[in-house]
Amino acid sequence: MTRKRTWMPAEDQIIRETMDLPAATVAARLPGRTPRSVSQRRAVVAGIIKPKLTKPATTARGRSHWLIAKTCPGCGQFLPVAAYSRRSRGGWDQWCTACMRRTTRAHTDREAAQTRETAHRHYQLWTGSELDTVLAQDAGGRWLHTTADAAALVGRTSAAVQHARNTYRNAAT
Ligand SMILES: [Zn+2]
Repeated sequence: MTRKRTWMPAEDQIIRETMDLPAATVAARLPGRTPRSVSQRRAVVAGIIKPKLTKPATTARGRSHWLIAKTCPGCGQFLPVAAYSRRSRGGWDQWCTACMRRTTRAHTDREAAQTRETAHRHYQLWTGSELDTVLAQDAGGRWLHTTADAAALVGRTSAAVQHARNTYRNAAT
């Protein structure tokens, strides 16, 4: 009763496309094939395409479109891929979208604050009395105050004092 007839590429094609249908249904569409032979052929076909289907999943580190969920190192949660953004080069972001947004915002805020601070220090003009304090010298021509002391006296950073001294030293003498 079992006839060993070579499977044709067209038949394999049908096998491949009907994996989710009952074997009997598929057998009915393939003359001369039984549900049992369809089941067996499915195993063979599945064996052939198995590497394609499973390789991405097993090697997935946020790289595969077969991925369905993974742990976000940012919040430590095991989340479905819907919680991640796709990378432009393919695959998924390592961190979930919420964590990405949070870190990006924190980074932007921090950068803005730093820039503001730098600009503030940099462009705030020195007053005459501040310069007098910072540039004050003793009889021997040495700074009357250490950099740190001068900075504390005028409420600026040591770097700012240093900068002012370098800038105004010659102008003052
Ligand atoms: Zn996260």
